[in-house]
Amino acid sequence: MTFENLINGQYRPGQPFANINPSDTSETVGMFCAADVTDVNDAILAARNAFPGWADTPAPTRAAILYRAADELMARKAELGELLAREEGKTRAEGEGEIGRAALTFRYFAGECLRPMGEILPDMRAGVRVELTHAPVGVIGMITPWNFPMAIPAWKIAPALAYGNCVVFKPAELVPGCAWHLVDILKRSGLPDGVLNLVMGKGRVVGQAMIDSLDLDAISFTGSEVVGSHIALSSAQKGRRYQLEMGGKNATIVLDDADIPHAADCIVQAAYFSTGQRCTATSRIIATKGIYNDLRDAILSRMDGLVIGHALAEGTDIGPVVDERQFETNRSYVGIGKDEGATLHHKGTLDTKNHDGFYMQPVLFSDADNKMRLCQEEIFGPVAALIPAADYDDAIEICNDSRYGLSGAIMTSSPKYANRFKHDAKVGMAMVNCPSANTDFHAPFGGCKSSSFGPKEQGPHARDFFTTVKTSYTATL
Ligand code: NAP
Ligand code: MG
Repeated sequence: MTFENLINGQYRPGQPFANINPSDTSETVGMFCAADVTDVNDAILAARNAFPGWADTPAPTRAAILYRAADELMARKAELGELLAREEGKTRAEGEGEIGRAALTFRYFAGECLRPMGEILPDMRAGVRVELTHAPVGVIGMITPWNFPMAIPAWKIAPALAYGNCVVFKPAELVPGCAWHLVDILKRSGLPDGVLNLVMGKGRVVGQAMIDSLDLDAISFTGSEVVGSHIALSSAQKGRRYQLEMGGKNATIVLDDADIPHAADCIVQAAYFSTGQRCTATSRIIATKGIYNDLRDAILSRMDGLVIGHALAEGTDIGPVVDERQFETNRSYVGIGKDEGATLHHKGTLDTKNHDGFYMQPVLFSDADNKMRLCQEEIFGPVAALIPAADYDDAIEICNDSRYGLSGAIMTSSPKYANRFKHDAKVGMAMVNCPSANTDFHAPFGGCKSSSFGPKEQGPHARDFFTTVKTSYTATL
């Protein structure tokens, strides 16, 4: 079977391309069809035609469809978790966890369909009533990255549909499998034709056709800064609403009064699990002098115990890097860190690129300086840098000396510094004694500075992007 694009409720063939398993590149996970510019424009037109009907569909009907999709995702967690692990390279446990999260997201937004959708303001003039209502935006283009092939599409598509919008969805070319199944589940859950359309294939063809269209009302994008700024520029010119979630260079600060074993557990989790391929991963560890050596040794001893291997093998902690390009990027940053004078630590042989897949040992650089490229540029792999700091004030200054501001963490037993960090850290998500990388499905997600633009995703604030506020004045005659 070749998995086809979904346009106006019909599966449509296209140029086939292979979805490769990064744990074993001799394995093809499946064949998928690439869309072309005509397909994209047809999908946008279908969504536009479906919009008035979907926007006026009663909320309980929309909710019932989203609940059915949530139930099917949950029921197929093991199967789809395995597919996710095969196409992206996360471990089976991480893959299943992600499917579960997507199911909870659909359940959450099914509930949101029935929440109050407006407010009434006090009268300023006798007998004139002011009402605020939320209207759907229209047709939303969605462009998503490869690192969360199910969770990110879910947290964009679920609120878009809940609030009455129609969608044209382009997943990352590396991971079309989860995307196809998600769309298929929603179709069979009862979505009318054209409400959700799937166009797979390359960003520079399919994504670009979406960006070039004058008929999308909004674009929600998660991915790199380069593509994000391209979307921003084009959207600004077209007067189109846009939302961007992009890179991170997240820090975990560890103070002298921290619980070191707990801090090391959180750091290893956040820096290396999911192969470091999370936008909220810890890539800078800023440690005060009193515990610097103990923390480094605690991290290194945990790194020694990690099992790197095939995503589906029993006992694997960390799967492969997603593809050759990312693998080469990671390797080049290991070279950059060495050249810049930081001290390299890793277990055994650093990496193996063979017919099996792109395996890489987690890397820690110690004695790093925040000015190094190693500490300023997003790598998106299992590479973290340990930076010494004099005290809290020095540590927070280093933490904030970054063009990014997605998430950040502090490890401390001091309520004073915990509270100061929540206030001082220039990030969208601040963690105290928690890993920088674990966020909840019902809480707002997003950052500041070059990490994000526009309203937050997930949780109650998702409504800000997927609806427009209408103010109505009614005089009682
Ligand atoms: P990417 O290269 O920017 O790709 C993201 C999406 O954009 C993919 O679907 C891609 O298609 C598409 N695209 C590429 N070029 C395009 C173009 N010219 N026009 C329109 N679309 C285009 O990012 P990635 O490598 O997949 O993901 C890694 C990045 O995502 C990292 O920077 C990471 O920090 C960020 N990320 C951020 C968050 C967050 O919430 N802040 C979450 C996850 C990931 P192809 O698949 O064909 O390339
Ligand atoms: Mg793949």
